[in-house]
Amino acid sequence: KAAMENIIWKRSLQMRSQQQVWQESSEGRKLLEFRRSLPAYKEKEALLMAISQNQVVIVSGETGCGKTTQIPQFILESEIESVRGAQCSIICTQPRRISAMSVSERVATERGEKLGEMVGYKVRLEGMKGRDTHLLFCTTGILLRRLLVDRNLKGITHVIVDEIHERGMNEDFLLIVLKDLLPRRPELRLILMSATLDAELFSSYFGGAPTVHIPGFTYPVQTHFLENILEMTGYRLTPYNQIDDYGQEKMWKMNKQAPRKRKSQIVSAVEEALRAADLKDFSPDTQDSLSCWNPDCIGFNLIEYLLCNICEKEKPGAVLVFMTGWDDISSLKDKLLAHPILGDSGRVLLLACHGSMASEEQRLIFDEPEDGVRKIVLATNIAETSITINDVVFVIDCGKAKETSYDALNNTPCLLPSWISKVSAQQRRGRAGRVRPGECYHLYPKCVYDAFADYQLPEILRTPLQSLCLQIKSLKLGSISEFLSRALQSPELLAVQNAIEYLKIIGALDENENLTVLGRYMTMLPMDPKLGKMLILGAVFNCLDPVLTVVTGLSVRDPFLTPMDKKDLAEAAKAQFSRDYSDHLALVRAYEGWKEAERDLAGYEYCWKNFLSAQSMKAIDALRREFYSSLKDTGLVDSNNATCNAWSYDEHLIRAVICYGLYPGICSVVHNEKSFSLKTMEDGQVLLYSNSINARESKIPYPWLVFNEKIKVNSVFLRDSTAVSDSVLLLFGGSISRGDTDGHLKMLGGYLEFFMKPALAEMYQSLRRELDDLIQN
Ligand code: ADP
Ligand code: MG
Repeated sequence: KAAMENIIWKRSLQMRSQQQVWQESSEGRKLLEFRRSLPAYKEKEALLMAISQNQVVIVSGETGCGKTTQIPQFILESEIESVRGAQCSIICTQPRRISAMSVSERVATERGEKLGEMVGYKVRLEGMKGRDTHLLFCTTGILLRRLLVDRNLKGITHVIVDEIHERGMNEDFLLIVLKDLLPRRPELRLILMSATLDAELFSSYFGGAPTVHIPGFTYPVQTHFLENILEMTGYRLTPYNQIDDYGQEKMWKMNKQAPRKRKSQIVSAVEEALRAADLKDFSPDTQDSLSCWNPDCIGFNLIEYLLCNICEKEKPGAVLVFMTGWDDISSLKDKLLAHPILGDSGRVLLLACHGSMASEEQRLIFDEPEDGVRKIVLATNIAETSITINDVVFVIDCGKAKETSYDALNNTPCLLPSWISKVSAQQRRGRAGRVRPGECYHLYPKCVYDAFADYQLPEILRTPLQSLCLQIKSLKLGSISEFLSRALQSPELLAVQNAIEYLKIIGALDENENLTVLGRYMTMLPMDPKLGKMLILGAVFNCLDPVLTVVTGLSVRDPFLTPMDKKDLAEAAKAQFSRDYSDHLALVRAYEGWKEAERDLAGYEYCWKNFLSAQSMKAIDALRREFYSSLKDTGLVDSNNATCNAWSYDEHLIRAVICYGLYPGICSVVHNEKSFSLKTMEDGQVLLYSNSINARESKIPYPWLVFNEKIKVNSVFLRDSTAVSDSVLLLFGGSISRGDTDGHLKMLGGYLEFFMKPALAEMYQSLRRELDDLIQN
């Protein structure tokens, strides 16, 4: 024991002297000075005291005050001082991989070390850490995965959960698990960090844990809403009716020729427009009615105008533009690069900041540009609290962010741009006042801002719970509903029951809520469980490429565009991809055509000609690669990739695999003299989305359609569909894993009987019995 202590002591001394040498170098001194200037530094002693005396401490402080980069370092340094340094192991979780990577690099730089030595990071598929890593930044998902094999987090001395104010599903989930763990590990320290002042909620969840607040300072920021901006530009906002595929929906259009109007007139024009679109009565629970406010219509031109204006007339300072996601960032970037001023690299440094940017690009974001060059950063809400760019003076806020939302009707998660909360809008505005007084342009009227929700609803209350429930099962955390009842804010019991029921139907859980073999594989894939299931079967049946395209296509924005004025042309363009009554197979062909065109650098023309979104195609391409690598991790495809596409040419097989994944999303096709009608068990009559391949047909020579998504707008509409035969539904509807029990037999049997196909039902029963016998023996 004495020898061991001696080693630890020596190692700690060594760590301390290394830091001393670094801090006396000129670069080290400069960085140390910067660190000491951060507000967090002033609270260092109070923080360390609180941490030493309490198992759980909550830290709140404005973005940029030094929580993420400094607090883990304070703990590390104090451990080294107290000679326990060589033993401490600090884990700090980040909701996004990009922040785990950029923060760890920054901390290593501040300490004059190489990344992967004392400070490291770990995210899915990537990481840099070594034997001597004592401070590890990782995504929340990585820590959850570690808990899978190490329930007590053996050897870890401090867990820091960052950005808890975001209330992400993973973070809320992790907090339940950690709360259970604390009594078992009394010496473990838990630190929660938040950028907003809602610490009370977390404090009471952890039995009155103390809170340390870091006071910050920001300069005043002048705020402009849409009405003020429109006055500057001479644009006029006019309401403009657009027929959406679901029926009438109001859209907005900018009218450049409009005469210059006085401010009061513009305000009333905005209000009139808002009233015309029913936005006046907008309240947080009717947020959907606002999604027809299309940022593409007003956003891009206006942003270009504002950026030009800033570059030509305003004082120096970087500009931060909040966009909704990678796809609109890259479209806007293309547009701006073609602009005479904004695209001139001698005057403007145009950068993007989003979850999948490369690390060199990341570094540029923090650098000060040369004199006379203005830095413009197009960012997602990642720049709202996780990443701080120091020299920002101007902020442009589109008012939206992509968030997953739960459509209770069809149990489908969707990632759609929706309005942000007041807190988010304030955070965005605050980014402009870090170095000197700033300006913020909100691209929406004040009355829309007033109607924003105060806070965003926590993810656990607004998204489907199927993936979470699967994760609870894979971590062996007992009964799902009992476990979730202990959350910071528990989801409704009904939502939980729905999720469990659904997981049973798709064969991920058995009757006793235990994970099936199929379910275990689904937990390893980062997508909607049913799409995971489809992908697994695609791999098993060696038709991987097309199935991978279908699965990714269903996870991104629909690439088939339908511009209002060219609706017929667009539908005809889509129809050429179809021979076989399937939107999903049409997508596969469109993607394959694009891929080929891309090889000849003609991807854009191909998209233009065929009414496809090039952004969506690129997104599918990128996501396909990600999904493929997680599929490889499951061991279901061999890494040499030899046979996994042996059957990819067989459309009947692909159709069957699609059916396997989309079940129980089925509807029956009932033919009458001239056309056909559709019926599901839950909704009765349903209709097809007019963009669907099958909507153009007068007859469908198959008895069933399977679909991924249905949407209720007056009537129930199916967004996408693939026609399948009786035999395909018999064999591939329901689950073909061993978890398939009597319940499933009855369910599909029930469908068949309901649709008055008793002969089929009978055949089905005997077929399944035979299959089951086969499996058993
Ligand atoms: P918080 O977590 O409280 O929002 P951070 O610890 O992330 O604050 O950042 C503290 C300060 O360090 C900020 O002023 C930020 O600009 C600066 N900073 C963070 N990361 C980097 C980086 N990679 N390069 C340069 N400065 C950085
Ligand atoms: Mg932070």
